[in-house]
Amino acid sequence: MNSNMTEVITRFPPSPTGNLHIGNIRTLLFNYLYTRHHQGKIVMRFEDTDTQRSSTQHEAVALETLAALGLEYDDGPYRQSQRTERYVRVLNDLIEKDLAYVAEASEEMPGEHVIRFRNPNQKITFTDLVRGEITIDTTDFGDFVIARSRNNPVYHLSVVVDDVDMHVTHIIRGEDHITSTPRQILLIDAIGGKRPYYAHLPLIVGSDRKKLGKRHGATTYQEFVDLGVLPEALINYLALLGWNPGDDREIFSKEELIKEFTLERVNNSPATFSYEKLASINKHYLQKLPMETYVQKARNVINSEELLAHPRLDEAIELVLHERVSLLSEIPQLIEQGELRWLITESPPRSEDLHYKDAPTAAIVAHLENLLAILSGASVQWSVDSLRELIWSYIHGAGEHSSIVGQTLSPLRVALTGAKQSPDPFTVAYLIGREATLARLRYALEVLQ
Ligand code: GLU
Repeated sequence: MNSNMTEVITRFPPSPTGNLHIGNIRTLLFNYLYTRHHQGKIVMRFEDTDTQRSSTQHEAVALETLAALGLEYDDGPYRQSQRTERYVRVLNDLIEKDLAYVAEASEEMPGEHVIRFRNPNQKITFTDLVRGEITIDTTDFGDFVIARSRNNPVYHLSVVVDDVDMHVTHIIRGEDHITSTPRQILLIDAIGGKRPYYAHLPLIVGSDRKKLGKRHGATTYQEFVDLGVLPEALINYLALLGWNPGDDREIFSKEELIKEFTLERVNNSPATFSYEKLASINKHYLQKLPMETYVQKARNVINSEELLAHPRLDEAIELVLHERVSLLSEIPQLIEQGELRWLITESPPRSEDLHYKDAPTAAIVAHLENLLAILSGASVQWSVDSLRELIWSYIHGAGEHSSIVGQTLSPLRVALTGAKQSPDPFTVAYLIGREATLARLRYALEVLQ
């Protein structure tokens, strides 16, 4: 807790009464970006004065989340519950200086005492780095309670003592704390601390403009991990929730964000959380992963033993899933819907599906027979590119007519997959292999007889 007046010092102050909500994480991220931009320091402290609801389990999860997202702090973690003595000393000092006094708790509870702050009833003006200058008349607060007993300071007092002791220069927090600010400034003045700068960040809302909550979808880090969101995608997306780079760029690495982040570019209107936007940013990061890493991540979410045992599953992931998937959680869903079924099971094609528009059966049969003959050739190289080339050169040889394309490729696809929709038939033929391709073509010809 050393002081250096020109330095930026911020804090990560979660209350470990639950798991970090995405709004808390966005606040921590903005603190992080601001502080790193200014080469300052971040103090980590757990605001665990609510001993009933606080738990070390929540603390552990918060630290894991910060580590997973790469949001490092420089000092701490401290715990408010371990600093009570310090708060009590400040409290006694305030009482001694007659800046606070012991009072009856209420008429309903005679004999119970609380400590009240002697409100000087001033108009407090502070600079909010997001909203500009704010002036609030504190008269309405009256002599507010700062401790429930001589040994039991309330939250506002602990926060203020911590911010002063830890030399916090910038308090960046959600706008729900804005009403606490004038009270906290009165206390900072009373204990002789230096007022920090404030930045109150806009609320995060769902598509219905209501405060983001469980019913909108994932809200905790673990829930985003379960969806298959990558940490770098979450950081990138959260940075755009309330901050904008001043142009329409959307993809930012953490380093770029640190370089570009300023509080002047934070909006003061609510930020709408879009799960679709997050998914599209995640897709960008998924596609940037080295293919081996991507394949491993995909394998980790596939639970079909049969698929996992298939010798060409890795290539199927690369050729079929890689382009399509925005969130890793879509992979088991796609598989459930039959996306790679043709890889492991032969689905008998139906005669009507093998037909194409009003092309005569004889034409379809002729194309499939020709393809069978071509693909049976001993010298055929079994790769997607050479299969594509061979089949297209057959189509071009058969006539320029655009319907030839459909009459060839559509029955081929149905023969190989049993379905009218699938990845392109060259990729399918490659992945299922020569033997299965030839067998399925023969079978389709039987169906058409
Ligand atoms: N512990 C408070 C919270 O988690 C933070 C309060 C503050 O930033 O001053 O919401």
